[in-house]
Amino acid sequence: MMTLTQLMERFPTEDSCREYLVEKRWSKGVRCPRCGNERVCRLTRPWNWVCTKCSKGVYRFSPLVGTIFENTNVGLRTWFQVIYLMCQSKKGISALQVQRMIGAGSYRTAWYMCHRIRAAMQSPEFKKLAGFVEVDETYVGGKAHNRHGGGVGGGLKKHQGGRGMAGKVAVVGAIARKGNVICKVIENTSNATLDAFVRQAVSEKVKLVATDEHAGYRFLDGRLPHEVVNHSHGEYVRGNVHTANIDSFWSGLKRGVIGTFHKVSKKYLPLYLNEFSFRYNNRKDGDMFALVVAGS
Ligand SMILES: [Zn+2]
Repeated sequence: MMTLTQLMERFPTEDSCREYLVEKRWSKGVRCPRCGNERVCRLTRPWNWVCTKCSKGVYRFSPLVGTIFENTNVGLRTWFQVIYLMCQSKKGISALQVQRMIGAGSYRTAWYMCHRIRAAMQSPEFKKLAGFVEVDETYVGGKAHNRHGGGVGGGLKKHQGGRGMAGKVAVVGAIARKGNVICKVIENTSNATLDAFVRQAVSEKVKLVATDEHAGYRFLDGRLPHEVVNHSHGEYVRGNVHTANIDSFWSGLKRGVIGTFHKVSKKYLPLYLNEFSFRYNNRKDGDMFALVVAGS
């Protein structure tokens, strides 16, 4: 991974950024962002094309149209720096930090850019998890004064019932060992909700699904190879049966969300889940920067 200085040398001008965006966004040639038509003509005005089909052949577009970079007063060089910083920061980076580091624009602008970049951190293809998979749910967020209330990074221990759960958002996740994580915000932790998630995220051909003793996962028995680790009896590992990977993903997420962002509302939590799972899923070899630009 390059340094920030190298990044700025790689992209010395707005034009160099645009060129890279065109390359990543339209790797198989420029297409109309409205209708997908490949028959487009380059105009003499730089970075402008016209679609031969849309609006009787007068629809003009630039590579920014339909991307997260559209309709902002922020230059692409600045955008690229912020994308770089977000890909680099394991625990996440706050809008305030971003505002200070780029030294431009308002806090509001920085906040808005961060959220748009999180939205671009979607995994393009969705593959069900296989092999050894850990499934677990947790609660994230809530008021800052709950942070000493137990649990890593301010998260309450789960299954503590209704008391103190105000403002906390339930999240379910699955992680394939040495593979990817998939997680999402859920309305409740009922069997039906958890079951729907597992059906969506975990392959039928999975070798093992490890969960803790929460009764919510009994429904897996018989359908999938399911083993339970009994945390309440002080058991954490029994051979392959443990939830160490998802546990550590949750604690990283909570440390990031509470430590960096202090408070995260239910509305925005899916964006943070995007960000944290994107970094996790590309931790080994992914060119995160290129992926974000391609997904912009
Ligand atoms: Zn078109």
